[in-house]
Amino acid sequence: MLSKIPVFKNFTIAKVFAAIFVIACTLLVFCLDMITRANVAFYIFYIPSIALMAWYFGKNAGWSMVALSFGLWFVAQWNADLREDAVIMFWDGLINLTNFSVVCWIILALRSREEQLRERSQELEQFAFNAAHELRSPATNIFGYAQLFHEKCQMDSDQETKGFVEKILKNVKRMTVLIKELLDYALAGKEEVAPSSTDLGKVLKDVLDGFNLAITEKKAELTFDPLPTLLVNPVLASVLFQNLIGNALKYCEKPPRIHVSAVRKGGDWVFSVKDNGIGIPAKDWRRIFVIFEKLPTTKEYLGSGIGLATCKKIVERYHGRIWVESKVGEGSTFRFSLSAD
Ligand code: ADP
Repeated sequence: MLSKIPVFKNFTIAKVFAAIFVIACTLLVFCLDMITRANVAFYIFYIPSIALMAWYFGKNAGWSMVALSFGLWFVAQWNADLREDAVIMFWDGLINLTNFSVVCWIILALRSREEQLRERSQELEQFAFNAAHELRSPATNIFGYAQLFHEKCQMDSDQETKGFVEKILKNVKRMTVLIKELLDYALAGKEEVAPSSTDLGKVLKDVLDGFNLAITEKKAELTFDPLPTLLVNPVLASVLFQNLIGNALKYCEKPPRIHVSAVRKGGDWVFSVKDNGIGIPAKDWRRIFVIFEKLPTTKEYLGSGIGLATCKKIVERYHGRIWVESKVGEGSTFRFSLSAD
């Protein structure tokens, strides 16, 4: 792949093709200028090329495009006999060069602002990751001691004390779930989490093993088709299935029937996790993928509203998308696509 060649390390193939396309468009405008010997300015058509180059490739490419466009425009104008009036040629040239430069400067400023925002959001994510990481161990300890205390209370405490301890246990459990979900969310955005050839069928089986207790308790029936091996990070793939299967088990009032499948569609694999749970109203199909968004439900479910936002982040990391189709009272099918290559 082109991106593996050092020169193209930070370029995707799409970017290289975009650059070729932009330069080709600029040359086309130049040819039109030359053929028509147009005195009317074609210069306006150079502007999108300058803007695209500056946005996608940065300072050097943007200013090189300004120089190229101005040079081509100048030759075309020379060809159109404008050279006979040097004063007009000078002022026209100055105005065009100013226009090209201003466009390039504005786009570069927008680009740098966008980079700053991205850096800030990465810093925040790193902060959330560190904070959650530090909180994890004390929270797990408190949970362990609260469990021991709860067991002790069963034997020699009054009803009120038992009630208090149960509340402590419930809240600490909520806290540990929240910390784990925050860690997963931050992990999904970390650049150093590298992809490798991952057998998603195996990942799913491991995830299901982790849900053994919940599956037995809820009398759930889980089936799955063969899943492909793809270039993704195995931990992130596991988090993705954990969230979707966990939700399918959680948001269900009858014995859950869950089916996981995958079909190849062009250059993508489209995965489905189908359940027979409480369902989701059509107006909320997009909202549920926003972080901390939880839907009001008749029963109280333990959750933080982070799980599906994490799934979206993981899928988008691999240039895929995630969506849901659902009928209230009948069930939901969560689908996500991942690139086959
Ligand atoms: P939570 O931790 O609250 O489960 P998620 O981000 O995983 O957070 O889910 C967001 C919301 O989407 C949930 O509060 C729930 O209302 C809804 N939801 C997610 N999965 C399902 C499902 N399989 N069936 C019904 N509702 C679901």
